[in-house]
Amino acid sequence: MDDIDLLIDLHQDGRRQGPGGEDETRRAIALAGLSHKKVKRIADIGCGTGASTLVLARALDASITAVDIFPAFLDRLRNTAENEGLSERVETVNASMEALPFESASYDVIWSEGAIYNLGFETGVRSWRQFLKPGGVLAVSDLTWLTAQRPLDLDRHWRREYPAVGTASERMAILEANAFSPIGYFPLPERCWLENYYRPMQARFADFLSRHGNSDAAHAIVTSEEKEIALYERYSTYFGYGFFIAERIDD
Ligand code: SAH
Repeated sequence: MDDIDLLIDLHQDGRRQGPGGEDETRRAIALAGLSHKKVKRIADIGCGTGASTLVLARALDASITAVDIFPAFLDRLRNTAENEGLSERVETVNASMEALPFESASYDVIWSEGAIYNLGFETGVRSWRQFLKPGGVLAVSDLTWLTAQRPLDLDRHWRREYPAVGTASERMAILEANAFSPIGYFPLPERCWLENYYRPMQARFADFLSRHGNSDAAHAIVTSEEKEIALYERYSTYFGYGFFIAERIDD
């Protein structure tokens, strides 16, 4: 198994593949005012096993196109959707967010939790805008500086790992510069990282390692995840995930 397959194997049993929470998805739905709008079509980009897709499907009478690059995650999502009687609302599409097979102005909502970093915030905002109808809503969560100042080693780490990292106001400015009108922002609470994401992942480490015969490659993945967890535990005052909601305005 190569490293990507190992990562998929570690993460596919998780209910989510990044920080987030059902309450926070619902909070973003409320901030975006989706319950009061006519929402027919939603795209959930980088959906993973469907943490946010399922909340959207339960909350809104809309059809959701759930996109991910890894079919194993989409298989899990389809299974859960079927078990919950939500299959009719959820269609999975195996595609890259860099080349979405969408028609222009075809979605009322573009949702993406913890995945836009694969393109970088601004590139993602720019390239996905075309798929939204005018007046459509973009809702994304992404790594965000929570303070203007921060320890140098932390700053260096994230600038190396994610050069597009920025503060909430910088993200708002990017949205405005790309013909979006900001609707809201909130930072995800620590619980979204620790209880919802990291602790369940840590609980899977032992099984994961034994399933892969304690291989060096499996150990390297666990070590790297543990490092990321330690970084968050030490520095959660300074960085987190921000949820950004904005409306597409006409050109
Ligand atoms: N939204 C989910 C998953 C977040 S993790 C959640 O909140 O739990 C990031 C997701 O992006 C993963 O599922 C990963 O497979 C997906 N991904 C990574 N690169 C991608 C790409 N180029 N195109 C589409 N999806 C991608």
